[in-house]
Amino acid sequence: MPRTGQDYLASLRDGRAVWLDGELVKDITEHHAFRNTARSIADLYDLAADGPARDVLTVQPEGTEQRILRAYHVPRTHSELVERRAAFKTWSEASYGFLGRSPDYMATGIAGFVSAPEVFAGAEFDGRDNLAAYHRRMTEGSLYQAFTITNPQIDRTKSASEQEEDDLYVRVVKERDDGIVVRGAKMIGTAAVFGDEIIVGTIEPLAPQDVDYALCFSVPIDTPGLKFISRTSYEAGARSVFDNPLSSRFDENDALLVCDDVFVPWENVLTYRNVDATFQMWWGTPAYTNFVHQASVRYWTKLEFLTGLAILLAKSNNTYHLPPVQMQLGRLIGWLNIAKSMVLAAETEYEQIGGAGGPVHISREIASAHRAMAGDLYPKVLAELKMLAGGGLIQLPASGYDLDHPELGRLVAKYVRSPGTPAEQRIKLLKLAWDALGSEFASRHEQYERFYHGAPHVYLPGILRDGRPDLLEAFTQSCLDGYELGEGPGAGAGSHGGR
Ligand SMILES: Cc1cc2nc3c(=O)[nH]c(=O)nc-3n(C[C@H](O)[C@H](O)[C@H](O)COP(=O)(O)OP(=O)(O)OC[C@H]3O[C@@H](n4cnc5c(N)ncnc54)[C@H](O)[C@@H]3O)c2cc1C
Repeated sequence: MPRTGQDYLASLRDGRAVWLDGELVKDITEHHAFRNTARSIADLYDLAADGPARDVLTVQPEGTEQRILRAYHVPRTHSELVERRAAFKTWSEASYGFLGRSPDYMATGIAGFVSAPEVFAGAEFDGRDNLAAYHRRMTEGSLYQAFTITNPQIDRTKSASEQEEDDLYVRVVKERDDGIVVRGAKMIGTAAVFGDEIIVGTIEPLAPQDVDYALCFSVPIDTPGLKFISRTSYEAGARSVFDNPLSSRFDENDALLVCDDVFVPWENVLTYRNVDATFQMWWGTPAYTNFVHQASVRYWTKLEFLTGLAILLAKSNNTYHLPPVQMQLGRLIGWLNIAKSMVLAAETEYEQIGGAGGPVHISREIASAHRAMAGDLYPKVLAELKMLAGGGLIQLPASGYDLDHPELGRLVAKYVRSPGTPAEQRIKLLKLAWDALGSEFASRHEQYERFYHGAPHVYLPGILRDGRPDLLEAFTQSCLDGYELGEGPGAGAGSHGGR
């Protein structure tokens, strides 16, 4: 049985070094910057442990005694992919799509690693046994894996080993009989402060000379020497759940990871001094496409939430029946159905590794297409909603609690309302809308949807490479080759001149 929310919260009370505003946070389950989000994540575990959705979120693999989180399970048929999608959808709906890095994200990546373990078999270091033990450890504990697999933006024109100092990116500085010592930094540890373990690696290609940086390992978050430097907390800035309903509960946090001479036992190392395996573990296994499976379901859910918000805003403004507003709402529903169709199509076009009975993953081609579509579309969705909402998003009392004030409350109730929507209901709706569209939390989400899956200058040329441009070019060329100057009716110089 997966652990409960209480078990999860208890596990967070360890010696983890989380820094916020110059302070070393003692207990993130009690601190005002983290506690509500920790509870939202605990609720996800409760849903899986003992609720009506237990059988959706967990599975008991054949020949085993324990139910495990479905995201850790390796699917082998199309219907298992569909069942995994139902699990992603259930957890996504619990945060309306605003917890991007819920525990299922990296769990499904780990299921991707074990679907192609040969990628970890380097000549000098063979990580396959460690990988199998790692998958078992994470699955049996229903552990929450955070990850930092991007180097900090220090000088993007230079490779890891060419940076002006050696320890800017995580690298191995010492080898011991029982493990290695690593030093340096990685970004962006989304939800890392809420995790059980952090996996440290590099998803972008490394240069051949970057061998000291070419490694991947996973260690507990409270490992001595690991430091998490948190960004501004939106949860801490929230006045109340009523005033900031999303940022007060779903601020998954992003932290810079610093490894200050961290000891990593050999058994926690997955790739070592191997440029190729360190890159291929993400791309030569289904890890990345599995990420997209989770992320595309969450994205679809988020668009459902935002479209529902648009409908409520239009109704509250009494503009719902106006033809231009109906066009805007129709466009939003069309976009959301594109997002949904991509999930269904990617599952239908699934790919199988090693023939019948082997692990399956969603279509790589459609996963890439989702990457190209989602980041560009998200700002357009927000722009449509802002146009629908108008100035009411801004013309709001600072807090809904102004309604409780004996003098002020009367005025707010009189002027902040619309037909059929009394003040408290309208303020509640518009505060939710601002948190989703315009707050600092909302801006972070816009940046997240654009960048969480990498930078466009990296992935768009990759989509070109994999997209068989030769076939597309040949197809259009066949049209050009089908006619000549002066050929066919009306194509000659005379007929052109006669028009
Ligand atoms: C909210 C958020 C959460 C994230 N969470 C995680 C996480 O949990 N774990 C994790 O590992 N990563 C995470 N990421 C990091 C994400 O993987 C990176 O942001 C992404 O890989 C892009 O890298 P970058 O931000 O360093 O951008 P850069 O690579 O620095 O690119 C930024 C811009 O610089 C320009 N540019 C830079 N280099 C070039 C070049 N060579 N050619 C042309 N143009 C160039 C482009 O305009 C590009 O858009 C997160 C990012 C965000 C925004």
